[in-house]
Amino acid sequence: MIYDFLVIGGGIAGASAAYELAADASVLLLEAEDTTGYHATGRSAALFTRNYGCPIVMQINATSAHFFQSPPLGFCETPLVTTRGCLTVASGGLEGELDALLARSEPSDSVCRIAPQNALEMAPFLRSERVADAVFEAGVSDIDVAALHLGFINGAKARGAIIATKHRVLSVLREDRVWRVNTASESFSTACIVNAAGAWADKVGAMVGARSIGLVPKRRTAIIVKAPAGLDCAALPSIDFAGTAAYLKPDAGRIMASPGDATPSEPYDAWPDDMDIAVLVDWIERETKIKVARIEHSWAGLRSFVADEAPVVGFDPDVPDFFWLAGQGGYGIMMAPVLAKLTAELCTATVGAHSKAFAQSLAPERTTQLYGGDQ
Ligand SMILES: Cc1cc2nc3c(=O)[nH]c(=O)nc-3n(C[C@H](O)[C@H](O)[C@H](O)COP(=O)(O)OP(=O)(O)OC[C@H]3O[C@@H](n4cnc5c(N)ncnc54)[C@H](O)[C@@H]3O)c2cc1C
Repeated sequence: MIYDFLVIGGGIAGASAAYELAADASVLLLEAEDTTGYHATGRSAALFTRNYGCPIVMQINATSAHFFQSPPLGFCETPLVTTRGCLTVASGGLEGELDALLARSEPSDSVCRIAPQNALEMAPFLRSERVADAVFEAGVSDIDVAALHLGFINGAKARGAIIATKHRVLSVLREDRVWRVNTASESFSTACIVNAAGAWADKVGAMVGARSIGLVPKRRTAIIVKAPAGLDCAALPSIDFAGTAAYLKPDAGRIMASPGDATPSEPYDAWPDDMDIAVLVDWIERETKIKVARIEHSWAGLRSFVADEAPVVGFDPDVPDFFWLAGQGGYGIMMAPVLAKLTAELCTATVGAHSKAFAQSLAPERTTQLYGGDQ
């Protein structure tokens, strides 16, 4: 059998692309690991933040909001998003940092300045002397990533797609305009490859002789600690701290914390660095009144970026029938519905005139100019 599309990677990008493509085509998704969603997708902070990322990412997220609020009938059994809100606090001297956030405020998703006292009421464990100014963004939501990912996987299967785990793509050959995709145990034929391999996307590109898109996986660390006694975690917003990328957010009755690190690395099964965790714990205890007696859980994941930090979606300019769906950075969960739809429209040549400029701004061609590389 020659599949119309073979998707490499079973994270949120591959699962959502398989779901959209399977509406009108035969689809095989190959995932290297024992389970889909094992890498970046299973390690995110699970936030939907409309006012985040570069302008094109913000535009994508604004469009994605509709899917999260009104998913297709039968897609999932529980809501995909729950309102959380995001508080950003600034210590003395950093008040100006909040102006940039306020400037991003959209009428549909406003960011408002609030009094430090109100910020302390929302998050009583903050140190009052460290909160000189604050803003609140009401539209930030928690995403049920597991439900979203499962919705795409189950929806793709219901549309006839085959999802095969424990199938790492090791090599690819092209014969008579058909791709032959080889794993350790089997070979598959397809008319078109969709490269949704996350941090490994450039490695997969190299298998077909494509030029690098200059993808840089960046490690981000997270820990879970006990919440202070008596704190109503359910009512807590996520909390950003001006002048640093660090953040806290409630997680099932506990507190998740991340230093917001972005350490460039090779693609690998990321794990947290002990020093990053030690620095994070020290920061939590200085910045808040939380005492970290024990780290209940820690992990790290890779957020993969190209130079302009916008995703890469489109056919390779040189290699025929090879489609990139990569570079989702720190926004791949929230962008997934829109990028998957665009992938299907581009792959089936049904992209509307109104989407052409949008598609052009995500096309892989731009990465060669940005990156200047040809390796
Ligand atoms: C700590 C952290 C916090 C984050 N917070 C958020 C957030 O709040 N909101 C948000 O929207 N995003 C967030 N992100 C980003 C988000 O998780 C990613 O953008 C997204 O998961 C990327 O999805 P993906 O499918 O491209 O990659 P992945 O989930 O990594 O999937 C790629 C898959 O390809 C497979 N693969 C690779 N090579 C091969 C091969 N040769 N053969 C077969 N399979 C292969 C891998 O095994 C992997 O399963 C966060 C990320 C991290 C690490």
